[in-house]
Amino acid sequence: MNLYGVYGASGFGREVMPLLRAQVANDPEALCVFVDDSGAEDTVNGHRCLTFDQFVGLPAENRAVTLAIADGCIREKLADKCEAAGVRFIELRARNCMVLDETHVAEGLILCGFATITANASIGRHFHGNIYSYVAHDCVIGDFVTFAPGVKCNGNVHVEDHAYIGTGAILRQGKPGKPLIIGAGAIVGMGAVVTKDVPPGVTVVGNPARPLVRD
Ligand code: UDP
Repeated sequence: MNLYGVYGASGFGREVMPLLRAQVANDPEALCVFVDDSGAEDTVNGHRCLTFDQFVGLPAENRAVTLAIADGCIREKLADKCEAAGVRFIELRARNCMVLDETHVAEGLILCGFATITANASIGRHFHGNIYSYVAHDCVIGDFVTFAPGVKCNGNVHVEDHAYIGTGAILRQGKPGKPLIIGAGAIVGMGAVVTKDVPPGVTVVGNPARPLVRD
């Protein structure tokens, strides 16, 4: 048996399972399950839902997961746990996504329906490109970065590790040698229009995007 797990059985995980199923449809030995440590459900959308320990304990010739949890810090923790247990990662690309020329993608990619990565981009580990998001030419995306639905990341933008870009945000195009930079761990709020660099760890919102002032 080839055992494939969608790690995370909440909202995003349930969106990702059909991508996994489609991708392994020609493998008669494939079994697709959810992996979720909450132990809350035995089955989700018709698939068994196992804890990580149960997943690792099932006899299988091959065992791989996709980390389908939007929080990049949780993804990193789970990636370390999977590696320590000898669990591999499966990359998922929706049938109608596009990845164009000379783009390098590290392990663990999830590229959802209608998402696009254009030319000469570099994508770090366990990137999520949710539905209708895009990464344009010459962008450099770090590790454990999350693009929510409809993110428009124009050319020559660098998005550092663990940044989260909210639904419908627009990142202004940078220039060759002078990219627009979204710092590590930064959060870009939904619908924000980012026209200049965002420092690490800062949350920005609005048009033009500015740091969020909390009351
Ligand atoms: N989860 C888990 N192990 C962890 C952290 C989270 O199994 O170490 C599961 C958690 O039980 C939940 C899912 O991951 O079912 C995360 O769901 P959430 O709604 O927070 O994220 P989303 O689906 O929106 O990415």
